[in-house]
Amino acid sequence: MNYLIRGATFPDGTVRDFAIRDGLIAEGTDGEVVDASGLRVLPGLVDIHTHLRQPGREDAETIETGSRAAALGGYTAVCAMANTDPVADAAGIVEQVWRLGREVGLVDVQPVGAVTLGLKGERLAELGAMAESAAQVRVFSDDGHCVHDAAVMRRALEYVKAFDGVIAQHAEDPKLTVGAQMNEGEQSARLGLAGWPAVAEEAIIARDALLAAHVGSRLHVCHVSTAGSVEVLRWAKSRGVRVTAEVTPHHLLLTDELAATYDPVYKVNPPLRTTEDVTALREALADGTIDAVATDHAPHAREDKECEWAAARPGMLGLETALPIVVKTMVETGLLDWAGVAERLSHAPARIANLESRHGRPLTPGEPANLTLVDPSQRWTVTPDGLASISRNTPYAGLELPGAIVATFLRGRATVLDGKAQA
Ligand SMILES: [Zn+2]
Repeated sequence: MNYLIRGATFPDGTVRDFAIRDGLIAEGTDGEVVDASGLRVLPGLVDIHTHLRQPGREDAETIETGSRAAALGGYTAVCAMANTDPVADAAGIVEQVWRLGREVGLVDVQPVGAVTLGLKGERLAELGAMAESAAQVRVFSDDGHCVHDAAVMRRALEYVKAFDGVIAQHAEDPKLTVGAQMNEGEQSARLGLAGWPAVAEEAIIARDALLAAHVGSRLHVCHVSTAGSVEVLRWAKSRGVRVTAEVTPHHLLLTDELAATYDPVYKVNPPLRTTEDVTALREALADGTIDAVATDHAPHAREDKECEWAAARPGMLGLETALPIVVKTMVETGLLDWAGVAERLSHAPARIANLESRHGRPLTPGEPANLTLVDPSQRWTVTPDGLASISRNTPYAGLELPGAIVATFLRGRATVLDGKAQA
């Protein structure tokens, strides 16, 4: 199917028509007409941090339902985290995830490989075999767990240099967060819940930045959540360390005051922090200290979320609300323009994940037609039952958000049209 997209507003503000032909962006005037007047066109979004839960927890999400949620959120590629059951620590498992993603065909599912066997933090996983597999893994992460042993982290950083891989660290010193339930601070003291101190994140980022500099390798920091982490990143980048970082939509909007509700939907790791942290994260995303927005989409089955706070699993849904939250916190506040949105949600994450030959490309003729159309003026209210995920753990139920995804195209095929998934 060929399309003629009429009157779309590009990230630089120009209004143009363009065609989609044979999977590519093209010049021309033929094809099925899509009226894009008033709509923003963005390069297809790229999520470098998604939990798809398959294999192992298909009651919470599958590659199919997660792919659909991603397409509806404007994504054309997602990196599927390795903390599945079994763990994605060998070539066979990453190939299985990659193949299932291709069969569904709604987004490119790029598997992330585990850094250590079984996420145990001890022995390196089969990094080379995963890199050479059909899935061509380039991002490795024990996400959910921190690679805490400095010698293991050093070896992993050294190993991935050979194929320009990157270690994506979940920065949390586990010795400082034993039993932690929420951010350590005034709120945790008031509520009597064990705290997760900012220093547990900041100390690991500082150590890893030094290690990355020492071995000349590439480090990516997952879900940065504190003002102090921003300062450490600024320092590392000023010294030329090859470090990139991501922030989640929820850390750009929500604060630890929500823990007072004792509603486990607000339990997440790293935890929601303070208003001062939120302000620092927004500024860091605006000035590029934080390179990318990543959802940390973490679906959980009802029994893992609809229980006592202490027993609940940490994590929130994110794929279908990420861009609207960024519009609300960054665009409507004047911190980021639409070119900045394209950079932080598409170009930068594609570069970090080594997907830049296919995703996060400029919107010019001859490039693969991976793109999304957004209505920035449409406001909609989040209803958990209206989401494509199997799980319902969105912290935004009842919240009105700006910016609706109208259409998404993956290599020229419409995965979403008129706001509805096409498969
Ligand atoms: Zn994590």
